[in-house]
Amino acid sequence: MNEIPNRLASVRERIRQAATESGRDPAEVALLAVSKTKPIADIEAAIAAGQQRFGENYLQEAVPKITALAGTPLEWHFIGRIQGNKSADISRHFAWVHGLDNYRHAELLDRHRADDLAPLQVCLQVNLSAQSSKGGTDPENLQALAESVSALPRLCLRGLMTLPDPDTSPTVQRSDFARLRDLRDTLNDKGLTLDTLSMGTSADLEMAIAEGSTLVRIGTDIFGPRS
Ligand SMILES: *Cc1c(COP(=O)(O)O)cnc(C)c1O
Repeated sequence: MNEIPNRLASVRERIRQAATESGRDPAEVALLAVSKTKPIADIEAAIAAGQQRFGENYLQEAVPKITALAGTPLEWHFIGRIQGNKSADISRHFAWVHGLDNYRHAELLDRHRADDLAPLQVCLQVNLSAQSSKGGTDPENLQALAESVSALPRLCLRGLMTLPDPDTSPTVQRSDFARLRDLRDTLNDKGLTLDTLSMGTSADLEMAIAEGSTLVRIGTDIFGPRS
């Protein structure tokens, strides 16, 4: 400790450069700091450096952090795999969920979203590499899922999310980012109003921003490697 403020500043600079180079306004690209496996002290260091949006993958790990920091105005994003039996707690504790990929989970999140909270902001995860081990809906099922999710009153469908297959080349990964953008545009042409493309991590944020990302999810390059 504590390199977090410097690392955060350099990630912000990379975002600014990548956006500028592709003719985009850097303000269109939100930074989600992915704090999974990292202690509360690291999150506090990022908060002190002006970060307010945090992403976590594991409910059991996240809830104590969210509770401990409840006095600070933060925006918590759940970016892990959703399990049906955890959906009530996910819906209670988070402002956003990025990994939604089926209607059963959508209904559970909707049913458990408290009336005194804003609707849960959701992104549908799309599996573009046909890797069976990964989450995400097939592109063929996306439109039907998007339409049914957008009808749920306690959810607000904001956009799409993807995680490229780490074993493919940068060229393939970049084309996956471009495909996600095309899928979003196609849904919007059909009457949906999706403003979010959740794509890009430490290794590939520049490519993701060049292909239209509006939210990059950065862990390692802010908090250091995870053991
Ligand atoms: C861990 C994780 C990230 C952050 O990845 P880094 O390579 O550490 O930046 C982003 N998105 C998801 C879904 C993750 O699980």
